Amino acid sequence: MTPDSRFPRKIRGSVVVQRRRCGKQSCRCSDGTQLHESIVLSYSQGGRNRTVMLAPQDVAKVRVAVERYRSAQADLEAEGNAGLAALLARRAR
Ligand SMILES: [Zn+2]
Repeated sequence: MTPDSRFPRKIRGSVVVQRRRCGKQSCRCSDGTQLHESIVLSYSQGGRNRTVMLAPQDVAKVRVAVERYRSAQADLEAEGNAGLAALLARRAR
């Protein structure tokens, strides 16, 4: 496998189930009781919320990558907060 074909290690966003009408009047979804469900990645970009449909075989991998991103983000934030606290402690002397 080339590096480009590997699945992303970290992905920003949330995996959610989207339920909606397809728009066809004759479809079972038209009365709003049996909506189509698709699993999407919801993310914000440029101040807008967006979604991208996920292929069924990718859902588990995307969930893992999203979790990995969140974990890394939490670690980075903790590190940054510790750095800030250390700086403030130096200035307080
Ligand atoms: Zn439909």
